[in-house]
Amino acid sequence: MCDGPKFGTAGLSQSYHALGISGFAPQALADYTASFGLDAFEYQCGRGVRLAPDKAAALGAACAEKGIELSVHAPYYISMSSMEEDKRLHSVDYLLQSCALVKALGGRRVVFHAGSCGRQSREAALEKALDTMARAQKAVDAAGFGDCILCPETMGKVNQLGDLDEVLALCGVDARITPCIDFGHLYARTQGGITGRADYEAILDRMAAVLGDARARRFHAHFSRIAYTAGGEKCHLTFADTQYGPPHAPLLALLRERGLAPVIICESDGTQAEDARTMARLFAALPAPVPA
Ligand SMILES: [Zn+2]
Repeated sequence: MCDGPKFGTAGLSQSYHALGISGFAPQALADYTASFGLDAFEYQCGRGVRLAPDKAAALGAACAEKGIELSVHAPYYISMSSMEEDKRLHSVDYLLQSCALVKALGGRRVVFHAGSCGRQSREAALEKALDTMARAQKAVDAAGFGDCILCPETMGKVNQLGDLDEVLALCGVDARITPCIDFGHLYARTQGGITGRADYEAILDRMAAVLGDARARRFHAHFSRIAYTAGGEKCHLTFADTQYGPPHAPLLALLRERGLAPVIICESDGTQAEDARTMARLFAALPAPVPA
């Protein structure tokens, strides 16, 4: 078992933009990411899936050459729990578009937000999302995208669908559906409820108990420090802002001890590449666990 976590970024840091590279530059993006010692990159489609297939193929090729694994963040307007039937069912189309893109990029994982509770109970919202999830997986298979991995994300605002158990329930729809554990979001929605090792252990244990398979080892993750209010997430911060958590060191230590191999995407506010590198270096410096 020599594989471990992969570290990468959500989109590009300010330091990339400061390089003055104009337009879509697959080689520059891959070179920049690799220069930080990173091996993952999450392509952002929050406002819609717009990257043309030939550009996607070029980015996929440039990243493959550097050993960078690509994933896609699906549009934010997906709403699997919407009380408007039309809007709810359109979520399936946006996931299909995202799968087509991740295939063109040569990746497999599509991360998405399930939706909000709105004026319905959490139970009613989850019930709708479970139905939409089943429809989406069926449509993905029918479209020939069966090797894509749909990843519902834990969400930072209390009224959003996506606490840990809700995300794990969505993963129960199909054995391929893999959780995207956004640790900053879980921290924010629990009013700072992740402060150290025991809190991370509880999350990893719960995931292993409910999923009961390799998904608990190869999960997807987002990481950033996040400020919160009573409603949960307020804004993403950087590793230099230490007033809020969660702390990354106890998580990395646990990943090392348990031999876990998630893809960890850093979502710091403007310093994603720098902070992902901090995590990658710290992880690499941890001693390998002593065999029992
Ligand atoms: Zn997200």
